[in-house]
Formats: sequence, C-alpha cells, structure tokens
Amino acid sequence: MSTARLTIDLDALAANWRALDAVSADTTETAAVVKANGYGLGAQPVARALAKAGARRFFVAVAEEGAAIREALGPGVEINVFSGHMRGDTDMIRDLNLVPMINSIDQMLRHVEALPGHPFGIQLDTGMNRLGMEPAEWAALREIALEQNPTLIMSHLACADEPDHDMNLMQLQAFREMTDGLAVPRSLSATGGILMGPEFHFDVTRPGIGLYGGLPYEEALTVVRLDLPVIQLRELEAGETVGYGNTWTAPGPTVIATVAAGYADGIHRIIGPNTHLFAGDVPCPIRGRISMDLIGVEVTHLTEEPGGLTLLGPQQSVDMIADNGGTIGYEVLTSLGGRMTRRYKGG
Ligand SMILES: *Cc1c(COP(=O)(O)O)cnc(C)c1O
Repeated sequence: MSTARLTIDLDALAANWRALDAVSADTTETAAVVKANGYGLGAQPVARALAKAGARRFFVAVAEEGAAIREALGPGVEINVFSGHMRGDTDMIRDLNLVPMINSIDQMLRHVEALPGHPFGIQLDTGMNRLGMEPAEWAALREIALEQNPTLIMSHLACADEPDHDMNLMQLQAFREMTDGLAVPRSLSATGGILMGPEFHFDVTRPGIGLYGGLPYEEALTVVRLDLPVIQLRELEAGETVGYGNTWTAPGPTVIATVAAGYADGIHRIIGPNTHLFAGDVPCPIRGRISMDLIGVEVTHLTEEPGGLTLLGPQQSVDMIADNGGTIGYEVLTSLGGRMTRRYKGG
C-alpha cells in the first residue's frame, strides 16, 4: 500500500468531548460540531464516537452535511444547521428532521411558510459580521420569532482564541442585551469560549476543534496520526540536489527517503522548509520542495531503514504544522485529502 495512512483515535476524541463537557456545569449541554466532514476526519465515525460519549446535539455548516449525521446516528439526536434555511433546503430539513439556525428575516419567512411548526433556532450577530441577525433586525423580528418557539438562540465569538481580547466581553454583553429574560435556551461558546469560564457557557456549548485535538484546547489528547510510507531510499553524493527547482543541495553524503504524500493530500508546499517527519522520536527534515504526491526527507542519521515516517502524531501536533505554514490547526485538519486511508482506532 502506498497511500498515506491517517489514524483517528476515537477514544481520544471521546475523552476530549468528556473533558470539555466537564468544564461546564451539569446544567449546560455540551454539543459537538462535526461540520466539514468532522473537521476532515470522517463525519460518520466521528459522530458515532461522540454520540457514544454522550453528545445528543450536533452542529453542521450546511443541510447536506446533516444527511451523513442522520444516517449514522438515526432519529435520536438533534442536528442543527449553521447556515439556516436556504432556498432548496426545505425537503432536507423536513425529511432529515434538521433544525436550521435562522440567520435573517428572509430565512425566517421562508421557514415558517415552507415548514410551519418545524423546529428552528435563531442565530444572532454580536459583532463578528458573519452570520446571524444584527440587533436592529432582531428587535424587529423578535416578537414574531418568539411566538414560533425557537429551540435555541445562538451567537459566535470572533476572538475566543485570545481570552484577553476586548471583543469577548463586548460580544458577551451584546448577546446578553439581545437575549436576557427570554425563555429560550442560549448558546455562545465554541472551544475557546468554553475555556473562558462559566459566564460564557449558557445552556449549550458547541466545541469543535478541541474535540479533534487542536488549540486553543491545550490539554486535548492527540486524535490524529499521519504516517507516510517510504517508497524509495536513495544515496546522494555531496553537491547532488533534491526535488523540483533544485532548492536543496546535499552538503555531503546523504540518504533521502521519498515518502508517498504531497500537496495534493493537503500537505502544503509552504511547510516544507520548517517541517520534520519522525522515525519514532527522531526528527527527519524535509529536503527540497514538496511535490504533488511525494516528499523528500533526509534520513542519513537513522540507524535503520524506515518503512514509513510520521508527519502528525504525539511528536508533532496539527498546530505545529500549522505554525510552519502560517495557518491554524483547523486548516491543517480540513485540508487532509480524500486520497489518504482513514483508519479508526477504538470507539
Ligand atoms: C466552527 C464553529 C464552531 C466550533 O468552533 P471551534 O472553534 O472549532 O470549537 C462553533 N460555532 C460556530 C458557529 C462555528 O462556525
């Protein structure tokens, strides 16, 4: 087999959910965000493991993603859709019993006309300017919306990965002003907000990245491991070069392992110069440019020929790779390509 192997530790995923659940009071429900194919790890196995751990409410970005979750978990869980009720979503929302998070007056009208009595939530914009009703829009719609018994009112924090950012308290205050005194469950926090303390928890929390082992949840257990098979080993003399553009020249006798993965698998070219793969605990630097399907790695210093090398795992987290590429763990995870084999451990 010559494709990269992504191993997903479902027990670690479940433990991360339980640990984030334990941060908030028993009166706060901990949901799970499984959008973008469960942050790239496989929506169905991820959702099954989280349901087994105790999650009863799942969030997806778009109605289409709800189908996979409903198929995996059956009728007993609630599936909330961040993008709300879009034109063309009505059949899916009804047939799969999805709960759209209504984002605008237009969506509200569409929802109550198309599916009167069907559950829905409300999404408010408290300053991120991305999704949800703004204060004026909410003020205009509030009475009508409340008569239809929304199941949840939510908003989203823009800077929760920086706990000291002024924006957090500003958004908290805006959310309270828009929702205090209403007899509807509320939700404000994703992973970052959960870690900021009880005043951010309300009735439902929505962790995503922390479940999958990413920052800002520093205590998260490692969930993903990515092993790349070595296809060839070659010996270079001083002065020979590796890869496209001859960007790396061997300073002396060198052994290069060519491993089977590349930028087509979401291992972006930009990480090349700063990134190592690992043979057990021993770091092995990437040499030359990352190709579409192949990467050159220096293994001169290894005492045994490696059968494979590890890019992600306990030695090197998704956030370390993200740093090397000037991005965030979320983007590393959701970039991991469809070509690699996903294997599930535990669950
Ligand atoms: C993605 C997302 C989440 C989960 O955020 P994490 O930072 O991954 O925990 C929660 N709520 C909304 C609205 C989101 O878009």
